[in-house]
Amino acid sequence: MKLAFMQPKAMTDPTDDITSEKAAEILRLTLPMMSRNGVPATPHNYATWYAYVAGENAELTAEVDHLIAEGQKFTAAVNARLYRKFLADHDMDRVEDVRTQLSALMNEVGGRLSDAGNDAHAFTGALNTFSDSVSNANDLHKIQNLLGKLLDETHQMRSSNDSMQSHFEEKTREIELLQEQLQAERERAATDPLTGLFNRITLLERIDEAIDATGAGQGCSVIMFDIDHFKAINDTHGHLIGDRVIRFVAKSLQQNIKGQDTAARFGGEEFTVLLPATPSSGAKAVAETIRKAVEAAQLVRADTKKPIGDITISAGIATYRRGEDTMELLNRADQALYRSKNEGRNRCTLAS
Ligand code: GH3
Ligand code: MG
Ligand code: MG
Repeated sequence: MKLAFMQPKAMTDPTDDITSEKAAEILRLTLPMMSRNGVPATPHNYATWYAYVAGENAELTAEVDHLIAEGQKFTAAVNARLYRKFLADHDMDRVEDVRTQLSALMNEVGGRLSDAGNDAHAFTGALNTFSDSVSNANDLHKIQNLLGKLLDETHQMRSSNDSMQSHFEEKTREIELLQEQLQAERERAATDPLTGLFNRITLLERIDEAIDATGAGQGCSVIMFDIDHFKAINDTHGHLIGDRVIRFVAKSLQQNIKGQDTAARFGGEEFTVLLPATPSSGAKAVAETIRKAVEAAQLVRADTKKPIGDITISAGIATYRRGEDTMELLNRADQALYRSKNEGRNRCTLAS
């Protein structure tokens, strides 16, 4: 284990360059830290405490340190506030933007309708209900659903009143544009910009869902991958080529999984595949296919046409055990990954 530090405190130094090689160590430190403070391991809480242990945000560190020093309880309300304040900022800003735009749009439509009278009556009612719902919605997904409903209403209104047609066509276009913007925003928030894979938050949510869906049936499997000797690739060829290698591995993951599976970038050069309802034998086969696909490729530099060298990856595989949570499952996969590293790399190991 390449543990450069033993105390979580050491991670709070903002000058410390937190990169992927530490992600697994942060993962290991985060869970005990959460359990010491009585914080349930939900994806949102995990995201908050991961950021705390990683020292990603000085304000977050100060606030959590303060809460701990004061002996304050991490209640659901405190946890939700921390997440909103430090992790979900961007999402919340977007919700605000969209709300503002929608209010303006609805005021305008409403104003024209009161001039038009009669037929517009039912639509104005729908608009008011919609307006109330938007004020209460706190995530992009809900607002998007509401927008869909408004669009339906607008279509109906248009067919029932010819004189308003061109006005409603214009409004329809505006609503459709907002819908597209929201969809793009939701996708952006769920994915990793370098690779286009899902990001860690989405992955954790999906593992939670897969565990919830287990019932009496076959549980899910997760595979953790880490590129072997990636530092050497960066050192020899530079970070831009390193990024290309990361994208190449991401593509190898995507090409070798099926519809219901999820491929995510967990951290710098670490990836995770979630296979719902899959036994360890099936997961091992998928991991081996991906490992071999990466091993077989011959990457060359675009500039010099020289080979980049042998790229290999190591994997750890864990299959859901009844009663464990997402983090325990991931931890077991991570430990198996470290066994692959210790036993010589370029191999896949099943968790014990
Ligand atoms: P090991 O086989 O043990 O995994 O060796 P390694 O060299 O891959 O080990 P380690 O995990 O310590 O190194 C990962 C390196 O990945 C260190 C970090 O600088 C680099 N890295 C992390 N994220 C990125 C990224 O987004 N782009 C590039 N180019 N490099 C990254
Ligand atoms: Mg690593
Ligand atoms: Mg590595």
